[in-house]
Amino acid sequence: MSTQTANQTVLVTGASSGIGQGIAIAFGQKEANVIVNYHSDEDGARQTLDEIEKGGGKGFICKADVSKEEDVARMFQAALEAYGTVDVLVSNAGIQQDSAFAEMTLDQWNKVMNTNLTGYFLCAREAIKIFNQKGEAGPDDKAKGNIIFMSSVHDIIPWAGHVNYASSKGGILMLMKSLALEVAPKKIRINAISPGAIATDINEDVWNDEEKRKELLKLIPYKRIGKPEDVAKVAVWLASPDSDYVTGTTIYVDGGMTLYPGFVNNG
Ligand code: NAD
Repeated sequence: MSTQTANQTVLVTGASSGIGQGIAIAFGQKEANVIVNYHSDEDGARQTLDEIEKGGGKGFICKADVSKEEDVARMFQAALEAYGTVDVLVSNAGIQQDSAFAEMTLDQWNKVMNTNLTGYFLCAREAIKIFNQKGEAGPDDKAKGNIIFMSSVHDIIPWAGHVNYASSKGGILMLMKSLALEVAPKKIRINAISPGAIATDINEDVWNDEEKRKELLKLIPYKRIGKPEDVAKVAVWLASPDSDYVTGTTIYVDGGMTLYPGFVNNG
């Protein structure tokens, strides 16, 4: 399978750690130009860029808060100035602010929505504007732009104590599908990846604690916690011409977490 990404310009949000870092590095290894967005961890972003360059890619780091319209506009402008275009957006930056529902503050609700949903809208809108400038594409042409939204199994698995997070991910599902429908005639593809449990900073308290880890593994029929590379390989494929007929779809990268693991022993 060829996953041609050489010379593609790829913008990855939240690329200073975890899944975003893994994805940015994977594109770097395919010799893409990668814009490494970060929010606060400049060292992490530099590490990502080092790995991209070691892998044969190029890029630059760009500080921007994806929930701020002016930051997002500035980041895409910087990409245009550096590389003339953007071919792929991986909208990945996301947060959790967990709370029992009755105690959830409006601030916790808003922070999660602003980053996980509004941030995805703002980045996708800038990407679509750039894709639209690429001119008409014929029916037999490959996609002129790709967006990959990092969602979660919690776009379909309800999650007590995390209503804000699950609501944001459920929102991404319809953002992805409705936008995919709107821009498919322009040969722009929109897809989502929904990871299960991937060991990153966001859930370190779980995979780093023996008891919690054991409990988590009960939810994973494939019996291992995922790695950022598991997700990164799918992202590279989704941005490549090999997946050219795939749009409006979510790929669950979850070791079977969405398969109702409680039924694994005959129910
Ligand atoms: P992570 O905490 O390592 O990464 C999240 C990244 O988003 C960080 O680099 C953070 O700095 C960045 N970020 C947060 N707010 C931002 C903002 N306003 N602007 C720009 N960047 C911002 O965790 P991760 O697991 O790598 O998460 C990446 C994505 O994957 C998230 O959308 C998360 O919801 C999703 N996800 C993760 C898992 C998992 O098990 N790790 C499972 C399902 C979905």
